[in-house]
Amino acid sequence: MDPAPIALPLLIALAAGLIGLAVGSFLGVLVLRLPHRQPVAMARSQCPHCGHVLRPGELIPVASWLIQRRRCRACGATLSAFYPVMELAAAAVAIGAAVFLPWPESIFACLAGWALLVAVGLAVGLADRL
Ligand SMILES: [Zn+2]
Repeated sequence: MDPAPIALPLLIALAAGLIGLAVGSFLGVLVLRLPHRQPVAMARSQCPHCGHVLRPGELIPVASWLIQRRRCRACGATLSAFYPVMELAAAAVAIGAAVFLPWPESIFACLAGWALLVAVGLAVGLADRL
C-alpha cells in the first residue's frame, strides 16, 4: 500500500497547524494591544504582571505556557489561558481550512477565520478582562 495518499494530507495539516499556532500568537498580541494603542510590531512580548521581557524559549506557542505551568518565570504570576486558547483556535482554523477546502479558497477562509478571531476578541474586550 502506498503511504503517499495519507501522508500528504497529514503533512499539510501539520504544516497548517504549526503556522496557525504562530499566527495565533500574533493574533493574541493584536487583541491585547490594539485597544490600548500599544505597538504590535517591533515591541518585545512581556509578562503582563511584572514586565519581564520574554526570552525565545518562553515564546513557543502553547508549549511555553504548559512547560511553565501557566506561570511567569520571573514573578510567578498566573498567565491567562487566553494565550494558548487563541493559538489553538488559530491552528484549528488553519487546519480546518487546509483539510476541508481546496486551494486557494483555503487561504481566504483561513484569513477570514483569523480575522474573525481577532474581531471577536476585540468585541468582547478581552484586553481589559485579563
Ligand atoms: Zn511576571
